[in-house]
Formats: sequence, C-alpha cells, structure tokens
Amino acid sequence: MKINQFVFNPFGVNAYVLSNSNGETILIDPSASNAREQAALSEYIKSENLKVSRNLNTHLHLDHVLGNAFVERTFGVKAEAHKDDEFLLGLQNEQAQMFGLPCNDLAPALGKNLDEGDIVEIAEIRLQVIHVAGHSPGGLAFFCENPGKVNGQDNVPPLLFPGDIIFAGSRGRSDLFGGDEFALVSGIKSKLLTLPAETVVFPGHGPMTTIASEKRWY
Ligand SMILES: [Zn+2]
Ligand SMILES: [Zn+2]
Repeated sequence: MKINQFVFNPFGVNAYVLSNSNGETILIDPSASNAREQAALSEYIKSENLKVSRNLNTHLHLDHVLGNAFVERTFGVKAEAHKDDEFLLGLQNEQAQMFGLPCNDLAPALGKNLDEGDIVEIAEIRLQVIHVAGHSPGGLAFFCENPGKVNGQDNVPPLLFPGDIIFAGSRGRSDLFGGDEFALVSGIKSKLLTLPAETVVFPGHGPMTTIASEKRWY
C-alpha cells in the first residue's frame, strides 16, 4: 500500500490517504477546511488515479470532520465513525465557537457506524477497528497488523492510526464533551499498549511514534 499524509486545518490534523495497487483508497480524517487544502487532497487523488472507497473518522470532534462535506460532495463517499460520537455532529457550531475553528460547511450525517472488532478491508489493506472511549465517547483506532509493502518498503511493522487517543509522548485530553480520563487510560493500557511493541503509530496530530516508546509513560 501507499500512505500519504496531509496536515489540515488550523488544528493541524494529520489526514491519511491509504491506497492499494488498484488505486482503491481509504481516507482517515480527511479534514481539509478550506479551498487550498481541498485542492491539495483532490489533486493528489487525481494525479495518482485513486478512487476513494471509504472515509473513516477516528472520532467526531470538529477538527476531524471539517472535510466530510467536501469528501461526500466530491467523491460520493459518506463518513464512517462510532455511534457514541454522533451527538458531536449536532454540536459543530458550539465546537466552532469554543475552538475558534471555521465551520461553514457542516459535516453531514454518517453513512455507517464502526465498532470494536469491525474490519475495514480493501485489497492489500486490512484495518481492525479498536474502540477506546475517553477522549471522546466513540474514539476509534485503526490497526493494520500486516501492512505488506508500504511506500516501496518491505518488512514494515504493524501500523496504528489512533486519532487523538494517543500522541507521541502524550494522550488526548479528557475534559471535552463526554471525555473520561479513567476510561481513556484503561482503554489505552488494555487495547493499544498490548499491540506489538514495534507497531508504528500515526496519531491525529503531531509526529509518529511507536507502541514501545509510549509504553514507558504508563
Ligand atoms: Zn479530538
Ligand atoms: Zn484532534
């Protein structure tokens, strides 16, 4: 598979584009918030001859859903996320005010719910859905146990896309809309830190890390 990363919107969300050799594509938090970012995403999709199959949201905080309306309009693909975060789509204006983010293109309703144990799969790319509440009630991490060849490299370790559940050297805040510090820490310990130590982590903000380096904080 090929992984391309964009950093979108004033909150610097990492948006990931995962494509296979047929050009089928999974987007993770494609949160482009203005015309320039939207053009960057479309131009990449076009230049690589990609076809967007799925749009996965790690969670539904406003900074992660800013591109959903655009993606649905442009590629005809509805976003998917955990049902426990759906209430956040009704609070987009409140979040916009609270965080000082633009919100003139409201994210539409989800096309599908994802939950613990679900598998999101296209040829060559298989993601296991892991649910960790606490940063938001419906926080999801996507785990790829056998990524195969990635960006031309062989022997790539497992990959994890945890949204804002964990970052390099920290974890998501738990003081927002339905956050829960106890649930967050216990979910991280039981479901993420138990993944293979060499797993490479691609968080929702900031640099990459590994499960091994995050383990020392717990
Ligand atoms: Zn968040
Ligand atoms: Zn975020």
